Amino acid sequence: MIKSPDGEGVITKQIMTELLFLNDHYMKEFDATILEVPSVNSLVLDRTAIYPRGGGQPSDRGWLEIEDGGPRFETLESSKENGKAVHQITSQISDLERSRLVGKKVRGTIDWDLRYKHMRHHTALHILSGVVYHQFQSRITGGQIYPDRARLDFTLSEMNREKLDLIESEVNRIVSMNADVRAFWIGTEEALQRSELYRLSADLLPKGLDKLRIVEIVGFDAQLDGGTHVAKTGEIGKIRISKTENKGKDNKRIEIVLDQH
Ligand SMILES: [Zn+2]
Repeated sequence: MIKSPDGEGVITKQIMTELLFLNDHYMKEFDATILEVPSVNSLVLDRTAIYPRGGGQPSDRGWLEIEDGGPRFETLESSKENGKAVHQITSQISDLERSRLVGKKVRGTIDWDLRYKHMRHHTALHILSGVVYHQFQSRITGGQIYPDRARLDFTLSEMNREKLDLIESEVNRIVSMNADVRAFWIGTEEALQRSELYRLSADLLPKGLDKLRIVEIVGFDAQLDGGTHVAKTGEIGKIRISKTENKGKDNKRIEIVLDQH
């Protein structure tokens, strides 16, 4: 909500997209209404389960089918802009069609196969970062998830075979625990006081929010996060360290792959 400058009451409701994937990581289909058609190849919905890239997790691929036999658009790339999820579509919308689309109902579907790969790799990275944090007190400087691999950069000064073997066996121990993974929200003040919750430096945290989302691997680790995750660590399958790279004095990259299943 936007407050008037003198603080007197609410003057307008801010247009936001409800991010359905934050509370249901397994939602594959959803119904929504088109709020805006900001360009000839993008749409904004009032709610979406299609993940817009962020936190190292890539955008979902998805389809948006317009009601009453309207077109079926494909989206490969989505982003978050001012509280809205903007879905880029692969076709062009004419100016006439743009105004007609606003207010229309859509049926959204996500490419579940691709999303599930992102989820398994994302949860795997949380286990990796938890192990490295607990064993070596190292924080994260960057990371990226792909459908077939994922990587994190750590503030580690030294990397050797012994450390890597320890990390690999620890991450697989957490996988085999088949621990529950759950998401919940806590107040920003509380989050800032619990430095174990954020693995990036505190000044990279989003500003101006009154609550932050936590993803917890029950019995192991909890971190601030906006991504989508598997419900049980056993869904990840065996994790293997596939590559390491020296990115500088206190910066070491670890890449992982998952056994197919
Ligand atoms: Zn994450």
